[in-house]
Amino acid sequence: MADGELSGASLGGEPGGRGGPEPEPEQLVRSWQEGVDLCSGIYQHLKEYVPLVLCSGSEAKPAEENLAYQKLLQTLEWYLFGETPADGFAKLEQSNSSSQLCGRVFKGGEATYSCRDCAIDPTCVLCVDCFQNSVHKNHRYKMNSSYGGGFCDCGDVEAWKTGPACKMHEHGASEDSVNSASQLPVGLAERAQQLFAIIFRYIIDMLIWTEDKELPLGLQPREKTDSYFCVLFNDEQHSFEHVIHSLQRSLGCSQREAQSHTTLIDREGRRAVKHGTLQSCQETKLDVINITNSVFQSPLRVEILHSSVVSHQNFALRLLSWLSQVVSNSAGLRQIFCEVVLNQEPESDQPCLSSRLMLADAKLWKGARKAFHELIVCSLLMETEYKRLFAIEFITHYKQLQLEFVEDDHDRNVSVTAQSVQIFTVPTLARHLIEEHDALKIIIETIIELFSEHMDNGKLHFQSYSQDKLSRKQMVLYDLKYVLICKPPLWTDKLRAHFFEGFKTFLKLLKTMQNMEPMSRQIGQHLEIEPEWEPAFAIQVLLKCILSMIQEWCASDEQVLLQAYKECHRLLSQCTNECSQRDARKQLNTLNMCGHSISLKRYLVSREPVSIHLPLSRLLAGLHVHLSKSGAIDKLEEYVPSSEFQVEKLMDYPLRCLVLMAQVSADMWRRNGFSLVNQAFCYRKVKWREEMFDKDIIMLQIAASMMDPNRFLMFLLSRFELFEVFSKSPVPRNKDVIQQTNVLVEELLHLIIIVVGERYVPGVGHVKKDDVTLREVIHLLCIEPMPHSELAQSLPENESNETGLENVIHQVATFKKPGLSGHGVYELKPEYLKHFNLFFYHYYKSQQTKAEDEQKKRKKQSNSNEALPPPLPPPFYSTFVKVTSILSCDVLMLILRTVLQRAVDSTGRLWSEAMVQKTLHLICMALQEEQRQLEGGVAEEDVNFDVYLKATRVGSSAVNAESILSLLEKLRSVPQLDAQKDMIIWTLQMFEAVKKLREKSSPCSATEAASQKTNETTQDEDKAERKRKAEAAKLYRQKIMAQMSAMQKNFIESNKHLYEKATEAPKQETVRTEVDSITNAEDPGVALGPMQGATAAEKIILICILCQEEQEVKTDEMAMVLAACVQRSTALSKRRSRTITNLGDDCDPLIMHPDLGCGTHVGSCGHVMHASCWQKYFEAVQNSTRNRLHAELPFDLETGEFLCPLCKALCNTVLPVIPQQAHNLDSKDTETVAQILTLSRWLQNVVTRIIGLNASDSKGLQLFFPEMTSSENESKLMQASATSWKDAVEFRSILSFGVQSPIKYSKSIVEMLQLFATAVFRVGLKVAPNEADSRVPLMAWNACAFTIQSIENILNDEDKVLFGSLPDRQDLSLRAVLQFAASQRVVASPKVIQKHLTRLMSVFLPHLNVEDTWSILDIDFFHLLVSLVLAFPSLYWEETVELQPSDISCAFNNLYLFHLVTMAHIVQILLTSTTDCPMEQDGEESEESQSAAELYEMLREYTSRSLEYKPHGCYLWNCVKCGIFPFLRCSALFFNYLLGVPPPEELSKDSSEGQFEALCLYLALPTNLFKLFQEHKDIVSPLLQRWCSDSSVQSFLKGERTTVQYPRERNQLMELPEDYSCILNQGSQYKCSRSSDDETKNLALCMFCGAMLCSESPCCREEVNGEEIGACVAHAINCGSGLGMFLRIRECQVLLLAGKKRGCFIPAPYLDDYGETDQLLRRGNPLHLCTERYKKLERLWQQHRILEEITRSQDMNQVVIGLDWQQF
Ligand SMILES: [Zn+2]
Ligand SMILES: [Zn+2]
Ligand SMILES: [Zn+2]
Ligand SMILES: [Zn+2]
Ligand SMILES: [Zn+2]
Ligand SMILES: [Zn+2]
Ligand SMILES: [Zn+2]
Repeated sequence: MADGELSGASLGGEPGGRGGPEPEPEQLVRSWQEGVDLCSGIYQHLKEYVPLVLCSGSEAKPAEENLAYQKLLQTLEWYLFGETPADGFAKLEQSNSSSQLCGRVFKGGEATYSCRDCAIDPTCVLCVDCFQNSVHKNHRYKMNSSYGGGFCDCGDVEAWKTGPACKMHEHGASEDSVNSASQLPVGLAERAQQLFAIIFRYIIDMLIWTEDKELPLGLQPREKTDSYFCVLFNDEQHSFEHVIHSLQRSLGCSQREAQSHTTLIDREGRRAVKHGTLQSCQETKLDVINITNSVFQSPLRVEILHSSVVSHQNFALRLLSWLSQVVSNSAGLRQIFCEVVLNQEPESDQPCLSSRLMLADAKLWKGARKAFHELIVCSLLMETEYKRLFAIEFITHYKQLQLEFVEDDHDRNVSVTAQSVQIFTVPTLARHLIEEHDALKIIIETIIELFSEHMDNGKLHFQSYSQDKLSRKQMVLYDLKYVLICKPPLWTDKLRAHFFEGFKTFLKLLKTMQNMEPMSRQIGQHLEIEPEWEPAFAIQVLLKCILSMIQEWCASDEQVLLQAYKECHRLLSQCTNECSQRDARKQLNTLNMCGHSISLKRYLVSREPVSIHLPLSRLLAGLHVHLSKSGAIDKLEEYVPSSEFQVEKLMDYPLRCLVLMAQVSADMWRRNGFSLVNQAFCYRKVKWREEMFDKDIIMLQIAASMMDPNRFLMFLLSRFELFEVFSKSPVPRNKDVIQQTNVLVEELLHLIIIVVGERYVPGVGHVKKDDVTLREVIHLLCIEPMPHSELAQSLPENESNETGLENVIHQVATFKKPGLSGHGVYELKPEYLKHFNLFFYHYYKSQQTKAEDEQKKRKKQSNSNEALPPPLPPPFYSTFVKVTSILSCDVLMLILRTVLQRAVDSTGRLWSEAMVQKTLHLICMALQEEQRQLEGGVAEEDVNFDVYLKATRVGSSAVNAESILSLLEKLRSVPQLDAQKDMIIWTLQMFEAVKKLREKSSPCSATEAASQKTNETTQDEDKAERKRKAEAAKLYRQKIMAQMSAMQKNFIESNKHLYEKATEAPKQETVRTEVDSITNAEDPGVALGPMQGATAAEKIILICILCQEEQEVKTDEMAMVLAACVQRSTALSKRRSRTITNLGDDCDPLIMHPDLGCGTHVGSCGHVMHASCWQKYFEAVQNSTRNRLHAELPFDLETGEFLCPLCKALCNTVLPVIPQQAHNLDSKDTETVAQILTLSRWLQNVVTRIIGLNASDSKGLQLFFPEMTSSENESKLMQASATSWKDAVEFRSILSFGVQSPIKYSKSIVEMLQLFATAVFRVGLKVAPNEADSRVPLMAWNACAFTIQSIENILNDEDKVLFGSLPDRQDLSLRAVLQFAASQRVVASPKVIQKHLTRLMSVFLPHLNVEDTWSILDIDFFHLLVSLVLAFPSLYWEETVELQPSDISCAFNNLYLFHLVTMAHIVQILLTSTTDCPMEQDGEESEESQSAAELYEMLREYTSRSLEYKPHGCYLWNCVKCGIFPFLRCSALFFNYLLGVPPPEELSKDSSEGQFEALCLYLALPTNLFKLFQEHKDIVSPLLQRWCSDSSVQSFLKGERTTVQYPRERNQLMELPEDYSCILNQGSQYKCSRSSDDETKNLALCMFCGAMLCSESPCCREEVNGEEIGACVAHAINCGSGLGMFLRIRECQVLLLAGKKRGCFIPAPYLDDYGETDQLLRRGNPLHLCTERYKKLERLWQQHRILEEITRSQDMNQVVIGLDWQQF
């Protein structure tokens, strides 16, 4: 970049050509003070220095830039304080009283807290410090993670009902806000005032500078240089990638550079991407525009700015933050600043300074806006009085700001309009704004204006609209909600007037929605284009809260309520009249029924347009209820005379809407597509229903309370288009029409039930708010037990997002805790079942069916009557009391009788069971009402209910009709109604009861007793009958159960998918049966040496899961294979931070390091197949899936992955099953051998053999001792071998203790062994498969050792016994792994194995004096043991004969190898794990501790006293015993699975006692382990000497290196805090070192090692093998060898990763008090660590089931496969 001349001319030179040395700040300031015009003085200074401040685009010398800033700012500070700034600030600090408010501004991701008990509204939040110090931490709080920008409300008395301030801010809050400005030092206030005004004006001038403008006079540079910047601006349209790409092309810069530009553009909103001459900048501008311009997107915004302008603008930004800093420090300066920026300049007609900048907000770039908003927050919003003044400015310009925001393309959180939440949610402020500044009207008018473009003929209509703009417009509705949140405690006339103005405007808005977007039924063909319906419903959701709050406001003042009602009624009537003008030509139609008649205009929902949106009607209904509740309804006549109240017209539209819903249910509108189905669903959905469905019902109830019931019902019948169905005798019609009609009748009956029965609205029925919630909860729980969140979601929320659930839940339900997965649920207490109403109006059809089944089932189980009669509803308010008269009116009687009549004549199809059910329900409701009146002591003559009479009278109105009662009797024998029988009986009993009451209240009640008695007897009979039925049912159930289980058996046998049973079956008859026969009681249970127990050949019979055939596994038969999964694992790693090194082509896996950095694990689901069956299956899978899209598969074909055909576990190879061989020692031979073959003799034989083999090999020494190439060693070795070779007898001496011929494996088994070995090799080393590689057997042994170690680890962790606690599948696969590893000596080349053995043995060959062997600190001895034991038989191989050691030889080989390894391990433990011991310790002097001390003394000698002090023997013994324990357990497992010798009983007993002794017994060790050293002193001493003199041992003892200690500490997941908010805070405090911004990050915590990473963020991406991958994926490569488990902090979920392609999310192990997890922190309840679930995660890791879990979740949830896991 060509900024050479600029930096050249900078501070070092003479600024602006002014002569002489630079003036000191004091001098300068003095000159300002002396000057006439302060402003021009300062401008002169800025003019000189600001251009030296380079724009942030340049790479040049940030230090100088900084210096310039300092120079400028310091001068200003000098002026402000009149002394050194440091002193000035210090004085301010002193005089400043603590702040009133906390005001901490939240960073993205920071935890915020709100109190559900005390916050005025949910936007009131606390920061973590304040929260911890507040009373609310013991309340019902909610936590959230902030998106940044808001601030802490601590100290704001208006934000909290109680506890407004924490302990830290208590003091400030109690102080009245004082005039702090007057307390400032002399002169400061005046200077501050002048300075702030000048600075702020300068800021405004600079920030809203436009290209066509010159710089202000005082700032124009003397000469205009040709130095320009090409500045790129941010927008929300172009993607990150697109901008990077475009910049690379147009600027010709590197990707990294383009990336940094783009990041900064996104963060700051603009960025100078080029500096140069005007012409070159113009060229670049054109390039950028050309490249980014496309058909789909407008080009990026680029501007060319003169360098001095850019400098001034950057400085202005800097000044904004400087001001923030200055005013935050001092209340006095803050007040002065507020005064300055809010003060209207007297002579100017311009708005005040703050408003000028505010109005330019939408034109500013992001960085400028952020700085400005921050200044607002820390100045204007911190002072109550100035907040008020600012609020007035805000509301004055409200409309303009919103209009500009809608056109703006920046996010809302960088718009000044977002400050509304800070202003409008302050209750007094909101009221003040409404009362004095018409806020309500202004906001609503803004909404109307914003929506004006969607207006069609005076109604809202959303046809083609931009989703983005619409959501911007909806923000205004939130503001409306905010100002209404608090009802006024006191009304003034002024408030009334202004509220009423606002209300009228609101009605205007509602009017544009009344009857909007009407629909017409499609007949014939299907609707072509689905109409847009979402926008209207989206607005309705926001309106719901506002509507209910407006109603609350109205209800709080009688005068307002009546006035509002009047206005609403007026507008609604006007609306309906407008609509009905269209129907003016229609004839009045008169309908007659039962002697009643009604005249109305014909209207058919099925033919004419109908709208779902009726907000005006619904508002009126809402207000009516409030009138009823408050009693103000009595005064209604004065406002709305009843003559004007045309109730039929008012109810008509809501009724049409309800009929529409009924017709949709009847499938009459199916040609109108999904849009209507969705709308019908939303209409009744909890988010909408309160201000839609519920209010329509109320409107009908209002009508019913005012109309004659017969007229009302006839109206309904007519609108339902069912009048003729009940007024004429049925005419046969086609099936579809009958079906439709039947559904409509059902819906009509349901509607009548609702209108009469639903009284759970305060004001309609005598209920309280909690009763309403209670009833909702009961009905939800009647469907099924539910978790808290589901309940909360199914209940309507108020404006504070509260449902009131907590108030009632404990009363009605009991909590059932969750298990390891799933969630806690609430179960309804049985005593609340009686409140169940089958026709509860908020049930969807499916819920109703489910609840009905559930309740009937329950009743059946308790052997009670299955009837589900209506519960007794609460009484109506007096306003509504007339509604009940519907129940006894003639028309209803006719309807009911007709339905029953048709059911009795069951031949017809004009009825349905549901219809009868509802009819019965209605009859019961009617009788209940009558009963209530009779019992309620109402005077006989006042009982207006005569249902009983009407229902029992024959042919009341219809001629010759039967009475309802007699029809009911007949109904009992209708076979189709069996399910309703109990209900029919119940209804009949109700009749009886009412009859009795009537008789009682009538003068002659003599029959009462008699009837009572009969009633009792019938009840007894009933009981007996029921008992009989119950017994019969029980028998029947048993029979069914028997049948079912028989069927199930068949099913299992024929169906492989029910695998669990299938595997149990063969397991029982196969695996172990034969082994026991040999094991006799005397068997000592020794696995090694001369006392080794005998074993028989194992007999394994398995069933192939694919062909279901049974087969015995034999070495010479076709192979049976286990589905297996081989994976690299760091689950046991003790060096998580270091990179994995034992990988790739040039790695030597011979020796495992004791830190177990990365091992190879073999797992299996335990499912067995024939090798041939599996091959066929695998080929089929490959063929069928190869063509499918790769992304769909949860497994990777290329690496041989497949899913187990039975359990769908992920597998990548198969493992052959091989039975154990029989072992039996001839006791006589054994004794003989034991006498001759001592350890030293054995070792001698071995050495001779090795050297002999070595020499006999013509290829030379290198092969055997590749590490010994130095000539000196070579010659020594040659000498030794030469002498030995002379003696061929000695060379073969090892064979003399017994040999036998090796086992032969069938071709199929060998094939499978090779296949598996190659898989282990390929996965374990991450190399290309090569079955001839010499490392194949090494990897097989390592995999075997590692798998055993991890199993031992799990058993220990879970406190399980060593033997007998493994699940069958693990047992079987561990057997197979062992036999597989052992078989390597047969399958692989013996020479290769000999070569490995030689190198392995070098650890124990003392006289070879090898310099370059491994230090014993760097060997994992269990791995070494496994390799040695399995490789050892190769020593017996002779070129001409294939031999292997006999059982006796084996026993001794194993014994001595084990002893050697054990001794080495003991030394290792003594050297490494005893360093920080106490010097003196009490303890009894046992034999063991004595020997321990002796050995230790020896080690001290050999290490030349590097082991400094001498710990107590007892302590040493303890160290060794603990340290070696895991090794012994692993060894016991190893030898057991290798040889099959049953272990001593203690090892399968659940007690820690005697374990050590039993292990020693089994492994043929002396319990005093040190005896080994004493016994074999001759051999051990030189070994000890060599081990101890090793250089790494020396450097360890000197403290120069670290090493693993024994026993190895078990790996655990990172400890997590109990309270989730702790993690949230840790997360928000974390600062990524690779990124400079504060932006919201998706932080992820590695649960293995605790590393914190920026997931999915460009800052922490890494390039691996030329590919960009996300931080988590990159971290997992080393930390988990590709597997990862991360806690995503802000989302509260755990991310499981496997490589670049696979991953899944599972909930974090945190539960709220309701036993539920909160993925994505949607609910925000306090979360606590659930240790069981945490443990479960840990096990997932330690048991190597992460991969399995991922595959399973991907298989279940296809969606996540679409995610690009590589980016995480
Ligand atoms: Zn705070
Ligand atoms: Zn506080
Ligand atoms: Zn609280
Ligand atoms: Zn098979
Ligand atoms: Zn399986
Ligand atoms: Zn990690
Ligand atoms: Zn980062």
